[in-house]
Order: sequence, then C-alpha cells, then structure tokens
Amino acid sequence: AAPGAPGTDLVARRARLLGPNVPTFYEDPVHVVRGEGVWLWDAAGRRYLDCYNNVPHVGHCHPKVVEAIARQAGLLNTHTRYLHEGILEYGERLVGKLGHDLQQIIMVCTGSEANDIALRMAQAVTGHTGVIATDNTYHGNTAAVSHLSTRRPPIGGYPSHVRRVPAPDGLLPLGGSEQAQPVAFAANVSRAIEELQAAGHGFAGLMLCPVFANEGMPGVGPGFLAPTVEVVRRAGGLILCDEVQPGFGRTGSHFWGHDWLGFAPDVVTMGKPMGNGHPVAAVVTRPDVMAAFRNAFGYFNTFGGNPVSCAAALAVLEVIEEEGLVQNAHDVGAYTLGLMRALRHPLIHDVRGLGLFFAVEFAQGGRAAAGFCGQVVERMRERGVLLGRVGRQQHILKLRPPMPFSRENADLAIGTLAEVLAELDAEAAA
Ligand code: PMP
Repeated sequence: AAPGAPGTDLVARRARLLGPNVPTFYEDPVHVVRGEGVWLWDAAGRRYLDCYNNVPHVGHCHPKVVEAIARQAGLLNTHTRYLHEGILEYGERLVGKLGHDLQQIIMVCTGSEANDIALRMAQAVTGHTGVIATDNTYHGNTAAVSHLSTRRPPIGGYPSHVRRVPAPDGLLPLGGSEQAQPVAFAANVSRAIEELQAAGHGFAGLMLCPVFANEGMPGVGPGFLAPTVEVVRRAGGLILCDEVQPGFGRTGSHFWGHDWLGFAPDVVTMGKPMGNGHPVAAVVTRPDVMAAFRNAFGYFNTFGGNPVSCAAALAVLEVIEEEGLVQNAHDVGAYTLGLMRALRHPLIHDVRGLGLFFAVEFAQGGRAAAGFCGQVVERMRERGVLLGRVGRQQHILKLRPPMPFSRENADLAIGTLAEVLAELDAEAAA
C-alpha cells in the first residue's frame, strides 16, 4: 500500500503482533470491512466482486443466517454436554443428504478437527496407522493432519506411517495421458499400501478431496476414483473423503463431490461453507465406524455442535434449498465456463469447471506459467475482482465464488479477466 494508506498501518500491526509467515492475499492486501452477497467493501468504500470465497457459501452476511445466529445467541449458547434439539435437528437434516449408510455425526469447529477424527476413525477400525494422501494437498493444521499437508515438511521429516502419492496433474498426467491417469493413480496408491504394510504400519485409510481441489482440479471426472476405491477396499482400508471444498452443492449437480464422482466413502468430512463463516464442521460416517472410534478414543468437543453453530448451519441448509442454489451453481456454472472457454490466450493450457468451481491453468511449452498467473491475480484485484491460485506450482487460477453468483457477476469477472490478459500482453509486447 502507498505510505499513509489505511492498509499500511494494519500490515505493520499484524506483522508486529502475529509474527512472520501469516498469509494474506495480494501484494496490497484488501482491508475488508463489510460484505453482502457476492460483494465485499474495503475501508475506502470500494466494492470488490468475491470470486474466491467458499466460506460465505450462501452469500456474505445472508440475512437468514445472520438472523438465526443472532436469535440463538440471544437465547442460549453453551457447551455441548446438555440436551439440546439444535444438534439433533441439524444432524438429522444433514445425514439425510448423505448416502443411507452414513447416519452418524460428530460436530466440531474446523475442517482440520474433522479430518483429525477421520484419521483416527480409520485407525480405530483397522487397528493400523498407515495413511495415504496426495503429495500436493492440504487437509488442515492439527499435528496429525498437517503431516498430510505438503506446504512445509514437519520438523524431523514426514512420519513413516504417512505415504504421499503423486497427485493427478493437468500438465504431466500420471501414466502419461489423461486416459491413463485414473489407473496410474490407483497403482501408486497400491504401491504405497504395500510399502506401509512392509514397514509394519499396516494400512488404515486414504484421505482425499474427491475433486482434488487444492491440487487444482486436474481433469478428474465421474469414475476417476473407481480403480482407487477398489484397491483401498481390497486392502481393508477406509476411504476418508474431505468435502470441505466441493460439499454443499458447489458441483451444481450433486450435494457432495463424491456423489458426482460416483463412489461411496466410509467417512465424510466437511467444514468451511457449512456455517457461512461461523466456525462449524462435521464428520459423518457409518454406525460401525463410529462405534469403533468412540470405543477407541472417546471424544468431546466443547464448542462442536453448540446451539449457535447448529442454528447457523441449519439456516445455511435452508437457504441452499429455498434459493435453489445447487441449480444456480449448475446454470451459472455452465454459463461462466462457456465464457472462460471462449477466452483466447497463448498461455491458457486448460480451463476446467465443475458447477461454481473453476480452474484456469497457465503454461508455456508444457511448463507452468506461475509468474504470469500471479500477475493475473494481482491485476484482477486492482480491478476489483478477487480470486486466487492453486496447483503444485501456483500456476492455476482458482475461482470459487459464493453460490448466489449470477450471470451478470460472471460477465463482470470473465470480462475483467479478458481485459487483464490483454493488458499483460500489451505490456509484454511494448
Ligand atoms: N480440507 C481442505 C480440503 C481444505 O481446503 C481446508 C482448508 N483450506 C481444510 C481441510 C482445513 O479446514 P480448516 O481451516 O477449517 O481447519
């Protein structure tokens, strides 16, 4: 920010108070003060189109969610050792949205906690400790889960009961081609299972995001995981499905990513969009898995499933239904993808979309164009459109707007993207 600009002081205060390596987006971080629907406003009153945020799933500050939180907060909020209808009403509604054998729920506060429980469920059921995830993912920040998250290797190195298999890749598909990728991925999982067994850890489970969101959504589709699921089942392991990103209808055709891919996980975890910004997350599983977990570990979470969290989460489910947001993700998603596919630029290697979840992969001569992708993100922010980037080399634009995203919003977002691409080209040619 320019010296003296309102953001400058906050950046310095954050650095002083919060220490180094606290991530913010953008070279000039946005100082947001208000949100509504798909829009955010900064302290200077400037409006931004939010194309990144899956946390305010039904729109920033949705009045129905705000009202539900306020009403319940004014009536009762407490820890979760009393009887209360909230968790039951919400939990029964939620499990109704999952496959018939996934009937039991643990409510927690973050996706990380949910995934931590999922790992322990796999260990409780199998009696083994070995877990597998991809080598380019993020599942959260508890000590155990962070071993699956590859941004920074843990002190002392990755523990030997964790194996990381190559993630599907848009630039260098496993097995050499997009068609070969599903079987090649499964073969790597199979090899990792053998290694875990040979090392004496045994195999507990495979954790993955069904659409490989943090990996950049690299060309997976229905059936992709079928060979992998077979390999895991044959070895007696559990499929731990992290729905933090694709869950709650974002795919536009299904409520969950695993339903879109067409497989039945043993454990499903969810978070971020669940409370529209209120910290609430959950693990849903079969009664046999739950019994094994409860017997092995016991579990109590002071805030997990408290009355306010359940009121927020219930309001989110109701808004998704009342406003037809899954259908909106389908319709506006297809419209937006059409606009994106019409973009012409030599560095666009691939454009992928799944409901209201999009990726634009930039590459040149088969090599990731990360610098260019970074410039696009910054220029979009300068023009008032917020989006992010993902991928092993951070060369993939990620758009994942709140679910009430409209055709008009798409016109603005993709129109601005076209302008930014043209502007960068004009500068490069000058
Ligand atoms: N799983 C996935 C796929 C995520 O993207 C994230 C957060 N980015 C998490 C889990 C962790 O969720 P939380 O930050 O709520 O702990």
